[in-house]
Amino acid sequence: MDSPMATLNLLHADHSRLFALSGRPFRAVYPVLSRRAGGLSVGINLNFDKGCNFDCIYCQVDRTGPPLPEGNLPAVDLVMEELTALFDAMDSGGFYHETSFGDLPLPLRQVKDIAFSGDGEPTLAPSFREVSQAVRHFVARRPWTESAPPLLRLITNGSGLFSGESRRQTGKTFLEDGPGEIWLKLDAADPDHFSFINRSRIPFDRMMQGLDLVVADLPVTIQTMVLDFGKEGDPNAMASDRTLWDPLLKKVAGWAGQGREIRAWHLYSVARPPALEEVRKVPVERLEAWAREAAFLPFPVLVFP
Ligand code: SF4
Repeated sequence: MDSPMATLNLLHADHSRLFALSGRPFRAVYPVLSRRAGGLSVGINLNFDKGCNFDCIYCQVDRTGPPLPEGNLPAVDLVMEELTALFDAMDSGGFYHETSFGDLPLPLRQVKDIAFSGDGEPTLAPSFREVSQAVRHFVARRPWTESAPPLLRLITNGSGLFSGESRRQTGKTFLEDGPGEIWLKLDAADPDHFSFINRSRIPFDRMMQGLDLVVADLPVTIQTMVLDFGKEGDPNAMASDRTLWDPLLKKVAGWAGQGREIRAWHLYSVARPPALEEVRKVPVERLEAWAREAAFLPFPVLVFP
């Protein structure tokens, strides 16, 4: 048997969307052990076509493979069926007997969140709104006798929340009708790094204006992936240095100065194999030094190396 630390490392590194229970492959729902959630996280992947309007250099989604099969069920029915089967198996203990989570220490067996985070930007999935409301009702209906109900969490690049209507709907589902959070991606706040890291179709200025609106209306946790790319001397190399950090800090400090409700800022690096092998994890000392520089902000700045 692996040591407890080896078990945790293996589970933290495995965020595969491929999950099966009792021989039945799941398509939309997948459990993972999440460093940042602090325990088990149940992911919901609605991006069966792997669609995203970003093409981040660190994305773990292999878009060269075929899309997931469509299946016959509407997405909302599929998610409800798989969520019910998964939580029933967790309650009965069957989940721990037949999966790699069997070695998970007891304190980490609580499901901390149900997170919309799939093979693409969740808010772009046509079923996102309907499914997120259904999941909210699922959490409200299910008895949580031995643990607190899981948070609903949206992990997003924000682009689906630019319109006021989608912000209102998302705010209601995630933040008003029960415990919930929005984790908003901000990997770069200058045009050069934005286009290098996120490779988005959305122009930089439009993106920043959109994020300004999102942050003005919704409380968020900001998440920043910090990475190096390529080896020294490589003409395409990029190191996450001050030219990346200074605009980021200025942007987030600007939001704080405007009184925006930011719950925390996560600085994290690569924990799982990305699609491009040139992507490299940064030393923890760099993240910690940046977090110290940001310590004046009125919310926690947390490091996840
Ligand atoms: S926004 Fe997320 S899903 Fe889209 S390319 Fe970036 S990391 Fe991948």
